[in-house]
Amino acid sequence: KPQIVWLRRDLRFSDQPALFAAAQAGPVIPVYVLDDDAAGDHAYGGASRWWLHHSLESLSRSFGARNSRVVLRRGDAVEQLVRIAEKTGAETVHANRHYEPWWRKAQGRLADRLDLQLHDGCYLFPAGHVTTGSGDPYKIYTPFSKAILQQMPPRDDLPEPETLHSPDKWPASDDLADWGLLPTRPDWSGGLDDFWTVGEDAAHERLEWWDDHVADYDEGRNLPSKDGSSRLSPHLHFGEISPVQIWHRFKDKRNQGWKTFEKELIWRDYAQNVICQFPAYPKESYRDGYDSGIWRNPNRGHLIQEDLEAWQQGQTGYPIVDAGMRQLWQTGWMHNRVRMITASFLVKHLLIEWTHGERWFWDCLVDADYGSNGVNWQWVSGTGVDSNMFVRIMAPLSQSDKFDAAGYIREYVPELADLPDAKIHDPEEHGCKPENYPSKIIGHKEARERALSAYREMKGD
Ligand code: FAD
Repeated sequence: KPQIVWLRRDLRFSDQPALFAAAQAGPVIPVYVLDDDAAGDHAYGGASRWWLHHSLESLSRSFGARNSRVVLRRGDAVEQLVRIAEKTGAETVHANRHYEPWWRKAQGRLADRLDLQLHDGCYLFPAGHVTTGSGDPYKIYTPFSKAILQQMPPRDDLPEPETLHSPDKWPASDDLADWGLLPTRPDWSGGLDDFWTVGEDAAHERLEWWDDHVADYDEGRNLPSKDGSSRLSPHLHFGEISPVQIWHRFKDKRNQGWKTFEKELIWRDYAQNVICQFPAYPKESYRDGYDSGIWRNPNRGHLIQEDLEAWQQGQTGYPIVDAGMRQLWQTGWMHNRVRMITASFLVKHLLIEWTHGERWFWDCLVDADYGSNGVNWQWVSGTGVDSNMFVRIMAPLSQSDKFDAAGYIREYVPELADLPDAKIHDPEEHGCKPENYPSKIIGHKEARERALSAYREMKGD
């Protein structure tokens, strides 16, 4: 009997447990269903759709080279898969387990209709694999990470299936070009085209490169002017490479860089562990009190809407913030240290609720991930399961200097490109702000006091 493989964020051939199991059981029908309704307000944003288009194109080529193909369908995933099963006589669907609430719901519905075989292919370990002494899932990263490290190694990584048999008859497929995943008017994707090569082969090429650089990660990862992190995040998000493959590739490295990098991969697992416990975590503050008026939200007046737009467009007058927001817009990615700085700036300097930032990142990031984005936004804001970080207000100007961001600012804020290192972090203060660069939207000291007093008021102090 033919075996359906339900592809989602696992767009690869090697170490693909669902595909591997299906190929051993019979002819394989790989299916990708674009199901925007299921995810509701977290249907893929613009940058992710751009990536998805190219990733599906690349995967279809790889299947084509093996005399197979990817069947594309649009609509309710469960209904589409059941229809394909009826047409082809398939009874079993193989899929890698996903933890987004809409996928968990769909997995449950599908299991009522067909034989659904779930495999673990997207994370180092399945969510819920480690628990506290009392058997509960971990809420906080550090003990979670320690427990995961004790479980290493993860499962073995799998080779590509040796043979792929085709079904007697292929079900009908949409044409990828008809899905309209790429932007047209205006076409903002030129910067993404320049910055990225999408697909499984590109992910492995970057991994090769990373092999030579991971030793320097401990230091390099904090310096936005350097190419000092793996930039594997969109490849990992779409499953063009698996964290298990990465882990096995580096396991024999003894350097500190790899140890730190391993902990970042565990952050990725941790975020899934959180959304499994709290499915709405990326949409609402976990801590009580924050909804009650600490925020200057855009619906409370148009001046605040202007503040949000200045942040989105990289026009805040803080060079490091503006460089980060423009990098995001141009390339669909932002350096991690700068993600922290820009997020903190929105939430604390502008006192705008983190959910507005989460939305913007969701639309603009090629690695936008329901779990990782939500968990990091709540972490920066201090509204989440971790200790309260709201009162730790990052100083963007000194962060910029400390992490030597001059080159980064020059690259993304060309108005400031001629300024020397000593002045570029704060041109206004040094009296050399060019006319075409905005003044600071709010002074750092004033913003800090405003945030702390709003916080005290919220707490009733
Ligand atoms: P590296 O430093 O090379 O790390 C390797 C991998 O570990 C990354 O590719 C990623 O998969 C994972 N990772 C690293 N840091 C984290 C982290 N803090 N949380 C979860 N996973 C991590 N990451 C996303 O993948 N998707 C998001 O939507 C996302 N949103 C974020 C929002 C904010 C406000 C912040 C502060 C961070 C966010 N991150 C997100 C985490 C982190 O910034 C990115 O994973 C990282 O910058 C990606 O670059 P890299 O691949 O070079 O990472």
